[in-house]
Amino acid sequence: MSDERRKLVLNNETEEDAVVSLSLRPSKLEDFVGQKDLVESLRVSLQAARQRGEPIEHILFSGPPGLGKTSLSYIIAHEMNSRVTVTSGPAIDRAGDFIGILTNLEEGDILFIDEIHRLSKAVEEFLYPAMESFQIDFVVDKGPYAKTIKFNLKPFTLIGATTRSGLLASPLRDRFGIFHHLDFYGIDDLAQIIINSSKKLNLQIDSAAASEIAKRSRGTPRIANRLLRRVRDYAQVKTDSGQITSDIVQKAMATLGIDREGLDETDRKLLNVILTHYKGGPAGVEAIAATLNEEVDTIVDVVEPFLLKKGFLKRTQRGRELTEKTLKHLGSSFSQENDQK
Ligand code: ADP
Repeated sequence: MSDERRKLVLNNETEEDAVVSLSLRPSKLEDFVGQKDLVESLRVSLQAARQRGEPIEHILFSGPPGLGKTSLSYIIAHEMNSRVTVTSGPAIDRAGDFIGILTNLEEGDILFIDEIHRLSKAVEEFLYPAMESFQIDFVVDKGPYAKTIKFNLKPFTLIGATTRSGLLASPLRDRFGIFHHLDFYGIDDLAQIIINSSKKLNLQIDSAAASEIAKRSRGTPRIANRLLRRVRDYAQVKTDSGQITSDIVQKAMATLGIDREGLDETDRKLLNVILTHYKGGPAGVEAIAATLNEEVDTIVDVVEPFLLKKGFLKRTQRGRELTEKTLKHLGSSFSQENDQK
């Protein structure tokens, strides 16, 4: 699967969605909703760097997908008045590919590397002197003809994003001066994001409807925006006014198979697999992935974090286990389905 394609699948987006997502991306720090402590600390770092007339230190953002790591990188570039080059760990196959990227950076430019935990070892080691002293040593030829060519780079800022900071080698982690972890958003922040996006998309939505969408967004702005677009489609087709109300949200969510806790088909399948195939757990993630015919990475990066956070799943040394809350929830969604029949 191509890298772009993998990303769309991971984010559960169509290509058209991806274009709309771009238009909804906040461009200034004041448009970035929530994550108050992070924003405040970033504001200080940005102001200090600007006062010193230096590029901001290398920054590492960690946290589940869709919480705003890429958006923050664009915002930082905007605030520092600098250009941003975007790439990702798996996109840089060979250390050689990287030279072009690094030598093209101007002073103060931002290099954003998404999924930095997926960089190859060779590229990663090449990155250490680039980050530390803005130099790279490139070895050409082999054996007696081997020559080392030194490139001096202009001082730049590396922004790394990772869904799994635990997988980052410590020499790489240590070379970042600033770390920020992004956590899931609360309902009020998500509702605000939905209201802001509705304005940009020219949609009529009331605050109760925005909260209804927020509650089902798995704490994730990208999902909030995606659900808003699906509700927009539903309202456009099913109503004359196109007005988005709580009632419309609930009906649209039912057609999408998203329940009141925000769990979708994939979540329920995963929980049901543990329930029926593994008697509620513990079950290893590889075994669960194989039964679901999903990639382990998708489960660990995309599906599981929210289920763990909401207490639908427990991670123990022996594997994943369901909780009381899950059994109650699955029970009630079964009876809801039965009630509707
Ligand atoms: P990540 O890089 O963490 O996967 P992105 O930065 O691509 O996440 O965010 C996904 C989308 O969610 C963005 O296009 C933007 O529309 C929205 N978004 C994320 N965080 C925020 C926020 N704090 N405020 C407003 N919109 C946000």
